Amino acid sequence: MAKRKVLKYGDERLRKVAKPVTEFDEDLCELLDDMRDTMYANDGMGLAATQVGVLRRVVIMDLGGSFFELINPEIIASEGEQEEEEGCLSVPNFSDLVKRPEKVTVKAKDRYGYDIEITGEKIFARCACHEIDHLNGILYVDKSKNRQKYFEKYGKK
Ligand code: ZN
Repeated sequence: MAKRKVLKYGDERLRKVAKPVTEFDEDLCELLDDMRDTMYANDGMGLAATQVGVLRRVVIMDLGGSFFELINPEIIASEGEQEEEEGCLSVPNFSDLVKRPEKVTVKAKDRYGYDIEITGEKIFARCACHEIDHLNGILYVDKSKNRQKYFEKYGKK
């Protein structure tokens, strides 16, 4: 296991669409374990493979002790709306309000390739949307309330 470097805003790899995982093999396990080390080392609550420069559809989250590994995650249902503060390890020195669904159902696979489906609200819904956005090259500052302030300071990248 090892920590990997977290890409920062402006790195064009953060804007790429990640490809689905097709091989549930040792490389995937190594990636997941490295992502976990990297997330904890940076005090994050979620991390997408895109953020460590691996353009595959892999997400991890730790929400108050509940740990999730989501491979090829898709949001298959959502309802309601919430607006809360978000931050991102790839977007340093900023946090901002983002509108997200209040509740989502995520369909994904685990590291062994088995189907999983999880329904969660509040922070689960927010974090899952944030991380899945990464897999599509979307950053939360693309849709946050005060994004203009961020773009004025750092440019739109
Ligand atoms: Zn993020």
